Amino acid sequence: MKKKILVIHTGGTISMSEDEQTGAVKPNESNPLTKKTEELVAFAHLIIEEPFNLPSPHITPTEMLKIRKLISQRSLTDDIDGVVITHGTDTLEETAYFLDLTIESKIPIVVTGAMRSSNEIGADGLYNLISSIKVAASEEAKGKGVLVVLNDEIHTAENVTKTHT
Ligand code: ASP
Repeated sequence: MKKKILVIHTGGTISMSEDEQTGAVKPNESNPLTKKTEELVAFAHLIIEEPFNLPSPHITPTEMLKIRKLISQRSLTDDIDGVVITHGTDTLEETAYFLDLTIESKIPIVVTGAMRSSNEIGADGLYNLISSIKVAASEEAKGKGVLVVLNDEIHTAENVTKTHT
């Protein structure tokens, strides 16, 4: 049976597009990842939430707390098996560590992002999102604390850091 995974989109490059005229990477009116649901439903039953759409330097403890509350509420009402959060990479480690310290649940919670926006050549967002859903749906990820999945690697929130932009 397919696992029930809560996907929370919060913004960042993974949710942005490159402007073809200027080359600037900017947030979109509608999140390009939410249009990819068909590619994702093969892996799990998804519940999608988009509480805000912010570049991650704008994420403060207020937004972190909002993500945490959303996870608690949905865990109670929907009996979810795992959680995936898409997030800008600049402060991804702070949100991941906050959730690691403040959530006691043993269900897998995975935070992911992307280095290239959705319409750039070699865009890594959809791939990282699929990898994260697979990890969040796996039995082995239970009780490991919050995990960060990017580029075919699984890290613990406790030890991960972004070292290069
Ligand atoms: N500036 C972006 C952010 O953190 C970078 C990224 O997502 O990789 O929102």
